[in-house]
Parts: sequence; C-alpha cells; structure tokens
Amino acid sequence: MLTGSYSPALVLISLCVAMLASYTALDLAGRIVTAKGRGVYLWMGGGALAMGIGIWSMHFIGMLAFSLPIALGYDISLTAYSLLIAVLSSGFALWLVSQPSLPWLQLAFGALVMGTGIACMHYTGMAALRMLPGIDYDPALFGASLAIAVGASAAALWIAFRLRMHTPYVRQIRGLAAMVMGVAIVGMHYTGMAAANFTEGSYCGALVNGLQGNSLVYLVLITTLAVLAVALLTSVLDARLEARTAALAHSLTLANQELTQLALHDTLTGLPNRTLLSDRIDQAIGKVAERGGCFALMFIDLDGFKPVNDAFGHHVGDLLLKAVAARLRGHLHSQDTLARIGGDEFVLLVELREPEDAMDVAVKQVNLVSRTFRVAEHDLQLTASLGIVLYPGNGQDQLELLRNADAAMYHAKSVGKNGYCFFDASMNSNARQQLQLLQDLRAALEQRQFRLHYQPKFDAKSCAPIGAEALLRWEHPQHGLMQPDRFIGLAEKTALIIPIGEWVLHEACRQMRCWLDQGQADWRMAVNLSAIQFSHPGLVDSVARALREHGLPANCLTLEITETTAMHDADASLMVLQRLSDMGVDLSIDDFGTGYSSLMYLKRLPANELKIDRGFVRDLEQDSDDAAIISAIVALGQALGLRIVAEGVETGGQQAFLTRLGCDSLQGYLLGQPMPAEQFMSRMQASRDGNEAVA
Ligand code: C2E
Ligand code: CA
Ligand code: CA
Repeated sequence: MLTGSYSPALVLISLCVAMLASYTALDLAGRIVTAKGRGVYLWMGGGALAMGIGIWSMHFIGMLAFSLPIALGYDISLTAYSLLIAVLSSGFALWLVSQPSLPWLQLAFGALVMGTGIACMHYTGMAALRMLPGIDYDPALFGASLAIAVGASAAALWIAFRLRMHTPYVRQIRGLAAMVMGVAIVGMHYTGMAAANFTEGSYCGALVNGLQGNSLVYLVLITTLAVLAVALLTSVLDARLEARTAALAHSLTLANQELTQLALHDTLTGLPNRTLLSDRIDQAIGKVAERGGCFALMFIDLDGFKPVNDAFGHHVGDLLLKAVAARLRGHLHSQDTLARIGGDEFVLLVELREPEDAMDVAVKQVNLVSRTFRVAEHDLQLTASLGIVLYPGNGQDQLELLRNADAAMYHAKSVGKNGYCFFDASMNSNARQQLQLLQDLRAALEQRQFRLHYQPKFDAKSCAPIGAEALLRWEHPQHGLMQPDRFIGLAEKTALIIPIGEWVLHEACRQMRCWLDQGQADWRMAVNLSAIQFSHPGLVDSVARALREHGLPANCLTLEITETTAMHDADASLMVLQRLSDMGVDLSIDDFGTGYSSLMYLKRLPANELKIDRGFVRDLEQDSDDAAIISAIVALGQALGLRIVAEGVETGGQQAFLTRLGCDSLQGYLLGQPMPAEQFMSRMQASRDGNEAVA
C-alpha cells in the first residue's frame, strides 16, 4: 500500500479557495435575484463559471497537495470533464436559489443533484490519474464523502437562498456562511481522498500524456484567483451601483411626490385644486356606475369677499381664504373633497346616502361661512352662495356637472345670496342659450341679418296713414325671424345696442328718403331709442349725420324714448332732448303711463307726442279705470300741447273708443301689422282705396 503525504501549505490554500469560491457564489446568488431581463442569465452564467472553477480548482489544488512516492500526472480530457461537471452543478445551484421560493422537497432534490455533482467532479478528477491498477476505495469513507457532499450542498443552498436579499449584516453573515461551506467542501474532498487506497506498485497511467509538475499548481491557482476576484469585484461594484441607483430612485420618488402635491393642490389653502377635483369627480362617477349610490357637487362662492380684499389688502384676504378653507374642511368626512378652483370659489364633492342629505350638508356649509371670522385682529363677516347638482341626474360628465352647479350658484346669488339652490334644467339652458345668442348677435350686424319692419300709424279721424314706426327684426340663420324682445335686452347688456341702433337709424332714414321721393311728404318715420343709446354721448351727432346723409328734413324723424328712460336722469335727459328738439327732430314719450312721471318735469320736456301704453288700450272696453286713465292722459297731453298716440289697437271697439276720447293717431294690428318695406306701400295704397270706397 502506497502512503501519500500532504503539503500543508497547499491544503491551506485549497481551503481558502473553497471559502472564496463559496463567498463569490453566495454574493452572485444575491445579484441574480435583483437583476432584470438578460442580466439574470449573464449573472447566472458568469456565476456558474466562477463558482465551478473555484470548486474545481480547490479540488485540483487539493490533489496537487497530495503526493505519493511515485510520480503523478493528470489525464487532460478527464480533468476538463471534471471542470465541466463543477460548472454545470454550480449553474444548477444558482438557478435553484434564484427561484422565488424554495420548498423543502425542492431543496432536498437540489442538494442531491449538487452533492452528486461535486462528488462526480471529485471522483472524475481522481480517475484522471489513471492509476494502474485502479484505486481501491474504502466503502465507508466513500459513503461519508458522498453524504458530506449532499449535506454541505443542502446547507449551502439553504444559506444562499436565505442570504440572497439585502439585510443589515449581510456581508458578515455571508462571510461566515462561506467559511462553513468552504470547510464542508474541503471536508468532502479530503474524506474522498482518505477513502482512496493506492496499491503497492501502482503506476500512474496519465504520466505520459497528462498534466504534471509544480508550475501547474501556480497556473491553476492564479487563474482561479483571478476568475474569482473578477467575479467578486464585478458583483460588489454592481451591487454598489445598484444601491446608488436605488437611492437615486428613492429621492426621485420623493421629489415626484412633492411635485404631485404641488401640481394637485392649491398653494394657499392646501386644498385640492381643479385638476385633482376633476380626477375625484371622475372617480365618483365611476363608483356610482359600479356600486350605485349618489353624490352631490356643490359650487360655493363667497359673497362679500372682494370688499374685504379691497379694504384690508391681499394679505388679510389670503388669511381669510385660508380660514374659510380650514373651517369648511374641518366639518367634512375624510372621503369628501373640498377643492379651491378660483379666487373665492370652492367646490365640494360629497358622497351621499340619500339625495335628500345634500340639503343638510349645504345648510351646514352656508352656516359655517356666515359665522364671524377672526383674522389678523379683524372680525370679518362673509356669506356664501351655493349651487348644488346631484349625480346621477343633473349631468352626464364632470364638465356638465360643474357648469350646472355654477348656474345653480348664480341662481342662489341672484335670489339674495347667503343660501343654496338646487340645479334646475331651466337655469342652465337659459344661461347657455343666452351665451350662444350673444355670440350670434355679435356677428349679426356684419352678416347683415337685421331687418326693419314698418308698422303704419294713422290719423284717428281721417284714418289716413301718417307714417310708420320702424321695428327691428333679426333674421337668425337657425331661429328664423326673431322679435326684438328676444335680443334687445342682450344687446343693451353688452353695449352692442349702440352699433345696432346706429344701423336702425340709418336704415330707417334711408327708407324714409325713398318714401319722400315717392311723394309721401307728410309722413314721419318713428325710430325707437333704448336707454343706453340715449345716454350715449354720440347720439345727437349720430342723428344729425343720418339725417344729413339721406337728405332728410329733421321733422321727418320721430325718436321714441320710453317714459322711464326720459325720466331717469332728468337733467341729463333734458339736455339731450333739448339739443335734438333744437335740431327739429320730433320726440315721442313711449309706453306712457307705465312709469311715474312728475308733471312738473313733463312740462319742461321738449316732447311732441305721448304714446299711451298698449296695456291701457288692451283692457279699455272691460276696465273703466283704463278708460279714465286714457281720458286723463289725453287731457294732460292737450293741456301741454302734445299729440296723443294710442298703440296696440286690435279691435274696432278700441278704435272707436280711442277716437272718441280724443287720441290724435292710432297704431295697432287692426290697422296694420309691422311689415317689410316692400309690402308697406302697396298695403297703404290698398287701404287708401278702401277708405275712399267707404267714403
Ligand atoms: P314698442 O316701442 O312699444 O313697439 C311696439 C310693439 O308693439 C311692437 O312689438 C309691435 O309689433 C307691437 N304691436 C303693434 N301693434 C300691436 C297690437 O295691436 N297688439 C299687440 N299686442 N302688439 C302690437 P315689437 O316689434 O316686438 O317690439 C317690441 C319692443 O322692442 C318695442 O316696443 C321696442 O321697445 C323695442 N324695439 C323694437 N325695435 C327697436 C329698435 O330698433 N331699437 C330699440 N332700441 N328698440 C326697439
Ligand atoms: Ca315704440
Ligand atoms: Ca310702446
């Protein structure tokens, strides 16, 4: 029996290599778990290579540490084969520990495969000696070496699986585990070696063509160390990089959160802003669609905030808004959203159990605002106007809901503020239609959509036509011919009435010129003036220009202003009327009897005509009061030297009555409806012929 001996230095080195290889393997297992995409396979391949080479070279160095009295060599192909086995079983082990879970059965199976792999490598490495006669293995020690290989593998796999995540003392624990594993691997090797018996007179068959010599030790050692060092270094650097990336990602997340907070909240009050609100409304709509239920959207506008802001300054205004926000917010449930969407405008989104609950919430909010606010040493008083919409019911999407809530809020304001108002379809359709109409009205002049219709006026006694009143019509592309009641108010609100009125004046004068040219020298054209036109400084010039441009004598034109307009700013009106009167223009007080004129004042007005309001004429035959009023007006007019015109004459009875009471001229559907200029002449011709026939 040949007795072998060991070089202690090489044994120690083999132990170090085993530990280093174990540490590298554990470290790489950690890398694989956090790697993504192709990185997983790269780490696994590189890891298997490094670890395989490590285990194998430990074995090889261990072999080289062993010397027999005879010379030894190693068969190249078998040695290479043993290396391949080491790499493959390392690869399998790495794959196994990078799985999301490692149940016991799988661990046991893995340990078996890996332990067998290591043993295979070892005994293949031994076989590379090609001893003749063959090595005689002690069965007990052989079995022990196998058991150690499988047991060590099980421990290694379990430790690697546990240690793959980053924990506080991971490096230290990993180092300890690497030591245990290194000892186990080395133990397996030397147990295997102890099992081997070399018969006396054995001969190493690999001596001729195989690897041999001491320089081989250093070559293997250096290569192995280099491979392990590179693997470990790469792994450590990559881990650092990853840690830094993770830190960066974390601070980026924080920055993002901060940005989101800024982007979704109002900076002054910290309440959600319009963007976040819109998101929440969409969520609420989605929730109702999914689970039913309902919610209310309340548009809250503070009444009287602007005066506070103006009187005490922005600083106090801001503090007040903050106080309002805090007070409102303080009384809501956490799932409700209170957003600030403009200066002093808030929107509240509340989930409701019953639609009826909305009222309680609204009452509470209104009351909360109406309590005194103590801000910067001032006691400030505010109220709020609330518009409420319910979903489902008051709109399909958030835009419509918000618009309707806004319309309801305006309604609440218009009926006296400091209160709430539920949305009703009429509010919105009015508002929206008005808006559209206003846009159309802006374009109407340019697109020549206005027309004048002329309603004839007749002498009460002779029934002869004495002229016409020009009445404005709008040929709307969609709504057809529109009466002035539907758009004059709008035009007055937006001062569009000025250019429109100017057009009316010119068009009426142009028409009058035509009639003059056709021989109607005694006719007069009446044009209505609105209060806005009347107080416009350019009026007198504008009238003068119209007359001049169409070559009309001033007394062909009657300007009708309502009694209320004329009496409004009495002194200013008087001056304008005086200038018009001085020009020779005829002046008529329209709708007379509906306002409250002072007789004193009426006496000073340079008017020529009083036009009795239609309202008195309508009920003339039934209501004796109206008859009395009309006779009083007639008497008054006669006393002041004014002509009296009655408008709205619809029946023969009215006509007879008014004539008898002493009206000078008459106007009404009975005698002639407003009509376009083209029809006017022929109608007048026809009625004159009729009159002549009667006479
Ligand atoms: P207004 O000046 O009192 O005009 C008389 C209105 O009574 C006209 O209505 C006319 O069609 C209507 N009318 C005439 N006869 C009868 C009748 O027998 N029965 C009844 N029920 N109604 C009769 P229209 O044309 O709709 O004009 C309404 C108002 O619009 C006018 O009242 C006037 O205030 C204003 N308006 C009309 N054209 C103009 C204009 O060019 N400029 C200005 N600023 N206002 C105008
Ligand atoms: Ca009129
Ligand atoms: Ca009138």
